[in-house]
Amino acid sequence: MVNFHIMTLFPEMVLEGLHTSILGRAVKQGHIAIEAVNIRDYTQDKHGKVDDYTYGGGAGMLMQAQPVFDAYQSIVDCIGQYKRKRVIYVSPQGKTFHQKMAQELAREEELVFLCGHYEGIDERVLEEIVTDEISLGDYVLTGGELAAMVMVDAIARLVPEVLHNKESAVTESFCDGLLEYPQYSRPEVWHDKRVPAVLLSGNHAKVDAWRLEQSLLRTKERRPDLYERYQESVKKS
Ligand code: SAM
Repeated sequence: MVNFHIMTLFPEMVLEGLHTSILGRAVKQGHIAIEAVNIRDYTQDKHGKVDDYTYGGGAGMLMQAQPVFDAYQSIVDCIGQYKRKRVIYVSPQGKTFHQKMAQELAREEELVFLCGHYEGIDERVLEEIVTDEISLGDYVLTGGELAAMVMVDAIARLVPEVLHNKESAVTESFCDGLLEYPQYSRPEVWHDKRVPAVLLSGNHAKVDAWRLEQSLLRTKERRPDLYERYQESVKKS
């Protein structure tokens, strides 16, 4: 069971996105919990402002420390001060997210995601509460919500029982360092294209061998960096 707490200025955006399909079902079945904490609810500004100008000048507004810190404190009050938690600031300046990080984070019980907006967040509160800074990639989004949603999705599907077919999480791309092989469903012939005969043979050993060969070919062609790393790990083992 993983509890996801998402600190955001747009709670409806993350909740609508993350309570649908497989994750929605996992929430209903109690395998994960996803809550959004509206940072604006914690501002002490009487007009509900959560941002201000940056010291030193420059374009754009910055989210202030106080509402972010108080929103975080509300989560700490709920889950307990001493309960282990990872606080992830989604940011273009963090380490780039990948499957191994998702696997590692799926073993935690309490994950807090902090979504920035505008020019970002006052550095002082980041210093106090953030344990991990993670980026979706080398580009800049308008806000952290989409990044947090992508990460929550990738992590949540690795939590035991979230995917009904347990196999699907272990045979997928990146799990063994390779991209997944091509897959086919009915009918056997579509637009004159036949499903590879080996997949209809019923011979599981042959199917496995074909799939591994396809994974290797595909990874070598599309992701030579991954292929090289895979070859090195095979040599070492
Ligand atoms: N001024 C910041 C900088 O140059 O690093 C960018 C701020 S961005 C416009 C606003 C917010 O979007 C960030 O605080 C962060 O939460 C989120 N964000 C933007 N790009 C992201 C990325 N590649 N990965 C994760 N979060 C991102």
